Amino acid sequence: MKDSFRIGRLLGIEITANWSLLVTVALIAWSLAAAILPANSPDQPAWAYWAVALAVTPAFFASLLAHEFGHSLVARRLGVEVKTITLWLFGGVSKLERESSSGRDELRIAVVGPAVSIALGAAAGALAVGASALGAPDLVLDGLAWLAAMNVMLGLFNLLPAFPLDGGRVLRAALWMRNDDHVKATEQAAAVSRMLSTVLIAFGLLEFLSTGTLGGLWLAFIGWFVLQASRAEAEVVAEQELLAGIRVAAIMSSPVLTAPAGVPVEEFVERYVLGNRATAYPVVDEDGRPIGLVTLDQVRDVPPRDRGQVAIGSVAVPIDRVVCAEPAEPVVDLLPRLLASGGTRALVLDGDELVGILTATDLNRALLVGAITHAEPTIR
Ligand SMILES: [Zn+2]
Repeated sequence: MKDSFRIGRLLGIEITANWSLLVTVALIAWSLAAAILPANSPDQPAWAYWAVALAVTPAFFASLLAHEFGHSLVARRLGVEVKTITLWLFGGVSKLERESSSGRDELRIAVVGPAVSIALGAAAGALAVGASALGAPDLVLDGLAWLAAMNVMLGLFNLLPAFPLDGGRVLRAALWMRNDDHVKATEQAAAVSRMLSTVLIAFGLLEFLSTGTLGGLWLAFIGWFVLQASRAEAEVVAEQELLAGIRVAAIMSSPVLTAPAGVPVEEFVERYVLGNRATAYPVVDEDGRPIGLVTLDQVRDVPPRDRGQVAIGSVAVPIDRVVCAEPAEPVVDLLPRLLASGGTRALVLDGDELVGILTATDLNRALLVGAITHAEPTIR
């Protein structure tokens, strides 16, 4: 992940930021100090504008983070683990380990973010009213009022029923709860997203053309972004539909060629790599139980002079960091785990016993077969 940098860790969740965030931070601080604050309270020294801007900007990003923590903590309470929160140009993204298992859970996770934003907006507003009663300077009140308005707007904007905004998920969750069909609910929500984003783009361009203000272009840009995201979501759903009802056992590669953990890398290369087409091999202990997975990339990284001594087991990725699946598990349930891990392979285990491996090649083949058979109207 070279496009992001790490900020820290809070409540067991890694917080990272995309470099695009720095653009937003600079833009917000600058527009506050140079435009918004001077327009509301003119004739103040420049340092005073900057002092308030530099206090309000981090507070705004802290509220973005609070919005994401809202999603993450509720998700965790509902049994969905969250590893990272990434801040970027448009706000934050919580990376959930898997999709919610019910519409009700998804609804809770989605709705809490905007609720946190709106509550923070109300709190900042109340703080402004209190500070005003205590006779605080106008600039401080302006800063608090801006923070209040931004949080309320953020909460409301996120409730727009379009992917990838929270509102898109709320809509999907509601449809899911009504019809008990996750795929269909996503399709319908993606259709609403496309409609809404088209309206945003048209409205934004119209505003830009008639008033010449940049606000219109910004709106059109957001519309375009929403359109891309809803397309991506619809694509994932199309894949899910092609794979619907297919279990891991039906498309996995089996039997699997396994390597004993104690075999030196050199021998492994001669005995396995040279004569086979696989690019990854499960590594097993003396009892034949899988303890890890070794890929050709990892083998390549062992210097040739060490290959006689290093055992293949010490090069392999340990089993607890390998994505595992059960033979009877639906493939669509495995996909999010595979995507979240960034890997392209899953070991298929029946209890302790290794029964197969599922690779990107197997998945692609299943998708193609699905596309071919779905084109035949008699099958479905
Ligand atoms: Zn959110």
